[in-house]
Amino acid sequence: MVEKVIPKVIPIRIDEGKGLLPPIGAQLVAPHGNTKDTRGRTLRDLRISVTDRCNFRCTYCMPKEVFDHNYPYLAHQELLSFEEITRLTSIFSTLGVEKIRLTGGEPLLRKNLEVLIEMLSQVRTPQGKPLDLALTTNGSILLKKATALKAAGLQRLTVSLDGLDDAIFRKMNDVDFPVADVLDGITAAQEAGFENIKVNMVVKRGTNDHEIVAMAKYFKGSGTILRFIEFMDVGSSNGWNMAEVLPSAEVIARIQEAFPLEPIEANYSGEVAQRWRYLDGSGEVGVISSVTQTFCHDCSRARISTDGQMYLCLFANEGFDFKTLLRSGRSDLEIANAIMNTWSTRDDHYSEIRGSQTANPSTGNRKVEMSYIGG
Ligand code: SAM
Repeated sequence: MVEKVIPKVIPIRIDEGKGLLPPIGAQLVAPHGNTKDTRGRTLRDLRISVTDRCNFRCTYCMPKEVFDHNYPYLAHQELLSFEEITRLTSIFSTLGVEKIRLTGGEPLLRKNLEVLIEMLSQVRTPQGKPLDLALTTNGSILLKKATALKAAGLQRLTVSLDGLDDAIFRKMNDVDFPVADVLDGITAAQEAGFENIKVNMVVKRGTNDHEIVAMAKYFKGSGTILRFIEFMDVGSSNGWNMAEVLPSAEVIARIQEAFPLEPIEANYSGEVAQRWRYLDGSGEVGVISSVTQTFCHDCSRARISTDGQMYLCLFANEGFDFKTLLRSGRSDLEIANAIMNTWSTRDDHYSEIRGSQTANPSTGNRKVEMSYIGG
């Protein structure tokens, strides 16, 4: 296992009133779903971080050394309320967004999250369709929450799980959380009626890569879709290092040796995972290769941080302050125009130019933390 010292840096988030002011524009236009950014990409997905807090301290995301009891988490009044999140979501839905993913931090820690899900499940696209509502969770309290989430109208669930070996899992979550409880949560979700649950495993070479085949074997044939994520250089505090990235091609090669696979088509344009199916018909796995095979070219995602800043990239270092617009009496039309204008200026393609841009706290080149912006 590669041991290293994580430098103590204070991760950035945009402090109250410090985000960029979203450009509303002088001439308001009717909301539409055809806004393209400077690279021709269209806005289709929205990820919303509902809390910047988490009960895990995964070493690659919220390392204990940084996210300790002195960490300046957002105060309750800084968070977008359920009403504000729902209003913003309805406005985004008039701009072509049909998929919403709630994330964090650990979204199930947000009190009464099922109430928000119920509110979001009432939102309709201009064509009268409900939104596709998904949630990413560490699964730690899923056993308790699965039935309520399903009843509230949540459609899709992704559970993060980095291995089946209890000792490795406890070490990676760094709060001694047992793997059995997450597996029980997944079973509870299946029993509550969630289908095609996805399980995301972040692979760190030298830490949990020997768990790849065991994970594939465990979920093969279960109806649950396992996906392997390359360890990314998100934020500025996870001590990222290319030597710890196991390329997805190697993940697939290792599974192939045990269980033959073949590539299959994406479900839709802009899907981040590349899909592979088992030749024996027992399901599929996916790989998310954000480091070795970037997918910036068709990225259709925007992100809303816990305190209502809109980020155009997971690797951004600045956001647009929509909370201030929401709280200053702006109309839906003005906010829709601000979103369209913000999206149309988008130029980022961080993963394609990674390396020259990689965060280096000593040079002041820092990116916001994933727990704040939403994974
Ligand atoms: N707490 C929830 C969870 O654990 O799924 C949602 C938030 S978490 C930030 C979302 C996803 O991001 C998780 O699957 C997590 O493993 C992944 N993630 C966090 N840091 C990462 C990194 N440095 N590289 C790759 N994936 C990462």
